[in-house]
Amino acid sequence: MTTALIVGGGLAGLAAASALARRGVRVTVLESRPRLGGRAGSFPDAASGQLLDACQHVSMGCCTNLSHFARTVGIDHHLEPQPVLYFLTPDRRVSRFKADPWPAPFHLGRALLGAHYLTPVEKLRVAYGLLMLRQTATDADPPLRPWLDAHRQTPRTIDRFWGIVLTSALNETVDRVGLKYARKVFVEGFMAHRDGFTVEVPRVPLGKLYGDELRDFFTRHGVTVRANAGVKSLLPTADGGGVMGVSLRDGTSLSADEVVLAVPFDRVLALLPEPWAELECFAAAGRLTPSPITSVHLWYDRPLTPLPHAVFVDCLGQWLFNRGETSPGEFYAQVVVSAARPLKGLGGAEVERRVAEELSRLFPVGAKLLRAKVVTEHTATFSAVPGVDDHRPAQATPVRNLTLAGDWTRTGWPATMEGAVRSGYLAAGAILGRRGDPTPCLQPDLGDRGAAVSV
Ligand SMILES: Cc1cc2nc3c(=O)[nH]c(=O)nc-3n(C[C@H](O)[C@H](O)[C@H](O)COP(=O)(O)OP(=O)(O)OC[C@H]3O[C@@H](n4cnc5c(N)ncnc54)[C@H](O)[C@@H]3O)c2cc1C
Repeated sequence: MTTALIVGGGLAGLAAASALARRGVRVTVLESRPRLGGRAGSFPDAASGQLLDACQHVSMGCCTNLSHFARTVGIDHHLEPQPVLYFLTPDRRVSRFKADPWPAPFHLGRALLGAHYLTPVEKLRVAYGLLMLRQTATDADPPLRPWLDAHRQTPRTIDRFWGIVLTSALNETVDRVGLKYARKVFVEGFMAHRDGFTVEVPRVPLGKLYGDELRDFFTRHGVTVRANAGVKSLLPTADGGGVMGVSLRDGTSLSADEVVLAVPFDRVLALLPEPWAELECFAAAGRLTPSPITSVHLWYDRPLTPLPHAVFVDCLGQWLFNRGETSPGEFYAQVVVSAARPLKGLGGAEVERRVAEELSRLFPVGAKLLRAKVVTEHTATFSAVPGVDDHRPAQATPVRNLTLAGDWTRTGWPATMEGAVRSGYLAAGAILGRRGDPTPCLQPDLGDRGAAVSV
């Protein structure tokens, strides 16, 4: 039986583990933290004892591999589709963004027409921009901002439409992203299939989503999961052309037929024997740049709003997630700021003050702020700058039995849970292919169901 060590228990490593285990590989997952899920994780709130997500994570209907993973391991029942998105402006007006029962891309036409924060001329500009975007080559990746300027977009349509969607989806500002991933978000997420844009929000904290049920799945499939098992370095074979196993921080070592390195891009080089670090596929990881996300957790003495969530237009906060009464007398809400560079240097207290002030203006219900907590992930995702894919290596490496996984590897997707699962499935597919089992693990996109395969 083939054996595999997977270094990193984030979604990339977990997806690789599930795919390999289901195809008869004996897998061990080594995770340095005490829990699984990686960046998609929770921490215990000291005041209430409850699990809190470091940052609320959402997915979309177009995330077919994440959805396949969730179904496979039996956690899909925790994901709640949001049939309506609520867009809120500082004057407290709300637009409901909802699909009509018409074929794509017309299913969202009425929703766009109903957006109160765009004038009729701006809506025409946006529709023209979207049509032109659909005609661009899928691999073209010039800077987006000049492209938008050249396609009749104004600062207002850029701020109030393109920026709102892209900053959250790509964790980067319109001024810094490339065309390729902007196209992916709008064309594949919103225009290609009527189910693509449906946002899904977990009903439970991420620590529970990627918790006991997932571990039960692994137990049933013979996967050994070792938490608190940090890997210190990979051990090369005597000829240097392969990997023998890993040495752990506790001084022990493990060997296996295959090793999957599923750690974040900024951790890769430190784990490699020196000569490998110079190989282009690994050196490329050092050229990716990070982008931060800040989430502000707030507890009030009453609900701010009956809305389950809100997308803010022209505000400091970008998304509000309203989680209701999480403990007696405490109503919990989370505000997310993606591409949070402008907040750098302000300090947590000032960020909290600005966000709380904004919420009191948007929801003037006299709610008293009981407590708050600001969490910033400085290396939340890689930045989807123009040409970023030139620095994203494929999963198969020149080291014969070493495979990469991680949202930063070449998946054709931005840094998301879907991207991470794709990378894990691609890594598993590369290993299985090398070992004579060529059925791919990657799942087809929406609208391409005829090509469905199973892992
Ligand atoms: C604040 C924030 C908000 C986000 N919001 C969303 C969202 O709404 N929707 C979405 O789709 N995506 C979102 N993302 C992105 C998403 O979380 C990531 O793309 C995805 O979780 C990455 O998975 P991964 O397995 O590639 O990496 P990671 O999750 O980083 O997993 C890598 C794992 O490797 C472990 N590790 C590192 N070094 C070692 C070592 N030496 N030995 C053993 N283990 C090691 C780490 O502890 C970690 O568990 C968000 C990310 C952040 C940070």
